Amino acid sequence: MMGLDVLRECTLCPRMCRVDRTKQVGVCTVGYLPKLSNIVLHKGEEPPISGETGAAAVFFTGCQMKCIYCQNMGFSQRGVGFEITLEELACAFLKSQQAGAKTLDLVTPTPHVPWIIQALEIARERGFSLPVVYNTSSYERIETLRALEGYVDIYLADIRYTDDRFGQIYSKVPDYWTVAQEAVKEMYRQVGPFDEERMKGLIIRILVLPNNVSGHERALEFIAELDNRIPVALMSQYIPHFGARNDPLIGRKITKEEYESALDKLIELGLDGWMQLDEKERLTTLPIDWRTPCGV
Ligand code: SF4
Repeated sequence: MMGLDVLRECTLCPRMCRVDRTKQVGVCTVGYLPKLSNIVLHKGEEPPISGETGAAAVFFTGCQMKCIYCQNMGFSQRGVGFEITLEELACAFLKSQQAGAKTLDLVTPTPHVPWIIQALEIARERGFSLPVVYNTSSYERIETLRALEGYVDIYLADIRYTDDRFGQIYSKVPDYWTVAQEAVKEMYRQVGPFDEERMKGLIIRILVLPNNVSGHERALEFIAELDNRIPVALMSQYIPHFGARNDPLIGRKITKEEYESALDKLIELGLDGWMQLDEKERLTTLPIDWRTPCGV
């Protein structure tokens, strides 16, 4: 099991900061303790992830990506959140189950992986049994993903760009596509394509960006080559927040034609999945009382 000592010279993500997180934060803005912004029942994830009751979306603070259009800027890049203990994290997982969640949906979890693994061990000893969803940008190190084998049931993995140059311009990472391809292959090796009966497997998300900045055609080809049973969530809800507002390429929403062209490609390749998440459902959340002690 991955220990907390990795945080003393952190190499959890491809940034490889090597900072001692007991003394300072890394590029991800996260220090030593687990830190999260909120946990809510979220009805707008993909249908099998949310089910009727909703996924317990755990919004961790910090991220190794620096997307200029991130809709979660407050906690992903500006450090908003609460530091908690290992016991409180395990408790939050148990309370998510008690709240009736269909899955435990760990959102941008990478800087917190050692804590998550230990909290899952504690929670499982106390009856926690929800499928665990690892909701990731796919900018991941293989070593960190390997440590998660047996702890994660469902990888909900983005493919953001298929050109490293766009990763640099829009998310401030030099090698997004180079890294993400290998990460997606590792996630697939661990769990295979998503299967609702087993509640296990890999789902890929593609947020279609204007002017083909997402390189979605290449992304869809890559998925089809890997295994065309992998479901794809093709997302159309991009909004040019923050630094993207005046950008010449991504400073607008996508057009109907851009989305339909991506959809045509998906169908042509024999892929399946979820085409369009309902906007009202997507934004429906209910609070989970995760901050009171549960005796762990
Ligand atoms: S998880 Fe954070 S501190 Fe660790 S390598 Fe990545 S950015 Fe740096």
